Amino acid sequence: MGTISGLRVIRSSVDGYGVIATRDFAEGELIAEVDGVMWHEREPVDDRYSLILGDGFFYDMVDQTRWINHSCDPNAEVEVGNDAERGPWAHIVAIRAVRAGEEINYDYAFAPEVAEPCRCGTAACRGYIVDEELLHLVVKPPAVASGAR
Ligand SMILES: [Zn+2]
Repeated sequence: MGTISGLRVIRSSVDGYGVIATRDFAEGELIAEVDGVMWHEREPVDDRYSLILGDGFFYDMVDQTRWINHSCDPNAEVEVGNDAERGPWAHIVAIRAVRAGEEINYDYAFAPEVAEPCRCGTAACRGYIVDEELLHLVVKPPAVASGAR
């Protein structure tokens, strides 16, 4: 596995490890081409660090990008594809200017049935790591539903 220049894995203030930029990235710039391994859901997939490619396929991130954290107000997004020409691929792309030293994050947009409480701490935090448009489908635990937040 190669080391991606411009990225460094650090201990994150958000959760576990995280990834920071070691240089500036412009809006729209490719931050990383993800190195990964494709799996199909009929196999025992470790989906903790996997991207969904569609048609039952997953792409398990095997380089530094697997440590990029979720944010409800991210500075990057993931583009994925699986085509005959290139095979499975994933790109991390800056959706706004990223400064050296800033933590890189993207919106995991989980399905509601696997949503997890979010601690991203941004003003836009939805309270859950879940697809923004599907937040209303999250079954909230009683402590949260009763207004503990
Ligand atoms: Zn959040």
